[in-house]
Amino acid sequence: MARIRIENLHKAFGDFTAVRDSTFTIEDGEFFVMLGPSGCGKTTTLRMIAGLELPTSGSIRLDDEEVSFRRASERDIAFVFQLFALYPHMDVRANMGFPLKCDGLARAEIRARVEEAARLLRIDHLLDRSVSGLAGGDLQRVALGRAIVRRPKAFLMDEPLGVLDTELREVMIGELRALHTRLGATTVYVTHDQLEAMAIADRIAVMNHGVVEQIGRPQEVYDRPASLFVADFIGSPPMNLLPVPGGLAPGDHAIRVGEAMVAVPILREPADGDLVLGVRPEHVRLDDAGAVRGEVYGAEYLGTTQIVTFATGLGTIRARLPSAVPVRTGERVGLSFRSEKLSLFQAADGRALRTALHEAPVAGGRAHG
Ligand code: ATP
Repeated sequence: MARIRIENLHKAFGDFTAVRDSTFTIEDGEFFVMLGPSGCGKTTTLRMIAGLELPTSGSIRLDDEEVSFRRASERDIAFVFQLFALYPHMDVRANMGFPLKCDGLARAEIRARVEEAARLLRIDHLLDRSVSGLAGGDLQRVALGRAIVRRPKAFLMDEPLGVLDTELREVMIGELRALHTRLGATTVYVTHDQLEAMAIADRIAVMNHGVVEQIGRPQEVYDRPASLFVADFIGSPPMNLLPVPGGLAPGDHAIRVGEAMVAVPILREPADGDLVLGVRPEHVRLDDAGAVRGEVYGAEYLGTTQIVTFATGLGTIRARLPSAVPVRTGERVGLSFRSEKLSLFQAADGRALRTALHEAPVAGGRAHG
């Protein structure tokens, strides 16, 4: 088990900065997800933790040991590559035992560890089968088994489910999470898929252009995004972001949004200049007396809920409403927002402003440990 401390980590490729001054700690036993769009620097960060890439500056500590410039083989960490990086001419047992054979362990010890890992992954009945005939999920389990047998201090996984179809991905998310709970090993997991991150993480680091924008539990990142980028990246559909010209004084209860006055959580810090109001689709309500007026543009049926798009003077607003609520395209409606759930951002730098919302406990979410 390991605690991983990243300090002022920086990586440049020539003139291009891939990772910019990252500082954070991954706690012992934590399932930590690095999430962000393609090219944001998550794989580069993971490769530096693994020892596959050297930092330009900054430090990486594994427990209290400085490992920044140690070779990958000298760090007690297992990198689970995108699956299928298996040896097709070997059977499952030989694939799983391979790293231990390279480390020179005794045959009996290798056998015991491989069988223990196979039982854990429920692939013990496949041990003597060739990997070439296995299905995607079982191949994935073998690749995981090969990492587990080493009993490393930490597992690093780079989009391990990327190649699987949706149904199998969902199964594997559940299995990976359950495996993590049983092994209790620190896991650092890279994905660009926010739903996968939400489902599996103790905490998520959201990255953009080489910068960590926010670190928090899934529910924290969702309910209280620290920046406009996070607000827009997390959530499907994303948060509605409405321009609010002019500032808001601490203590003000309402804000002018276009023609409407909208009640907002009270600011806990001064705000200068233009703001952006953030409203999650589930916090938009149809309300005849609502201050924001609009027209139904279309509705997407999702079973128990529907995503309804409204054309308003403030731009497009999307709402998640129960499917039972009747809506007609072209219908004129009033909208209101659940004021206690709204976010406010500074337009100039995209930073979220502290409001009364930040003082309420975050509901739900996965507790670490
Ligand atoms: P993806 O999911 O697409 O891999 P990512 O967030 O993991 O995205 P990285 O692979 O960390 O992104 O890459 C970050 C940036 O650094 C990208 O713009 C990439 O082109 C660049 N980069 C990565 N490795 C190198 C390299 N060896 N030489 C030059 N540029 C690189």
